[in-house]
Amino acid sequence: MAPNLVEKITDALHLPGSHKHKKTSAESEPKKPILDKEKVSVIFVLGGPGAGKGTQCSLLVEKYNFSHLSAGDLLRAEQDRPDSHFGDLIRTCIREGTIVPMEVTIKLLENAMLAELRSKSGEGWTNGKGRFLIDGFPRKMDQALKFEEDVCLSSLVLFFTTDEETMLKRLLKRGETSGRDDDNIESIKKRFVTYRETTMPVIEHYEKLGKVAEIDSSSPVDQVHTAAVAAVTKVLV
Ligand code: ADP
Ligand code: AMP
Repeated sequence: MAPNLVEKITDALHLPGSHKHKKTSAESEPKKPILDKEKVSVIFVLGGPGAGKGTQCSLLVEKYNFSHLSAGDLLRAEQDRPDSHFGDLIRTCIREGTIVPMEVTIKLLENAMLAELRSKSGEGWTNGKGRFLIDGFPRKMDQALKFEEDVCLSSLVLFFTTDEETMLKRLLKRGETSGRDDDNIESIKKRFVTYRETTMPVIEHYEKLGKVAEIDSSSPVDQVHTAAVAAVTKVLV
């Protein structure tokens, strides 16, 4: 995307509590992410649609006082925001199961993270510390690289995995009550293709870096949770 378009998106997403980068005088210094991995734990949560990411994140929030930021939820909220410039773009991407341009998604995440760091307290949130489950992100290599360059390095990728038949059944069941535009058979099939073709390479990238904890999410919710806890406790700062 052209740099001036990136700036426009950044301005347009200037939500309450948002943050803008200020150029420092030391422009020659190597660029660093705005958040320090030693203080802020970022755990990416990936897996196919319906694998159980949101379910497991809610349980981990109760246990560890994480901030749970779902990229999909942030995009749906931005889509519904009356003044949003991106409502139609996001709506189309969600219905078609495609990836929303990374500038939009990353800026929404960055704004939400900074707001949480300002306001959240309790276990894991003292002295500038914080702990985030970033759910459904990164779904494409460009957003993985850009987020880690600009915002924060990740500590772990929790990768929930089960077969497509199971995910399909779960999503159709969820669709009976979720009210989501994309919990229908046409959108689900498209989401599976995007997952296989675009998101799996991201998981493979992090596997090469030894950062992935793969968890079979075919089992009952409590068993999956036990496995997730074991992985998470190793990386919390
Ligand atoms: P995702 O966030 O990965 O899209 P969700 O957490 O929303 O998935 O789960 C999709 C559906 O499957 C939900 O209705 C949820 O209640 C159900 N579900 C999640 N985990 C399990 C599990 N381990 N066993 C059975 N059903 C599950
Ligand atoms: P989810 O709520 O995680 O099932 O995501 C629903 C939809 O939101 C996806 O099918 C995409 O269209 C969009 N979306 C979610 N996360 C991302 C992301 N990280 N990058 C781009 N688009 C996303």
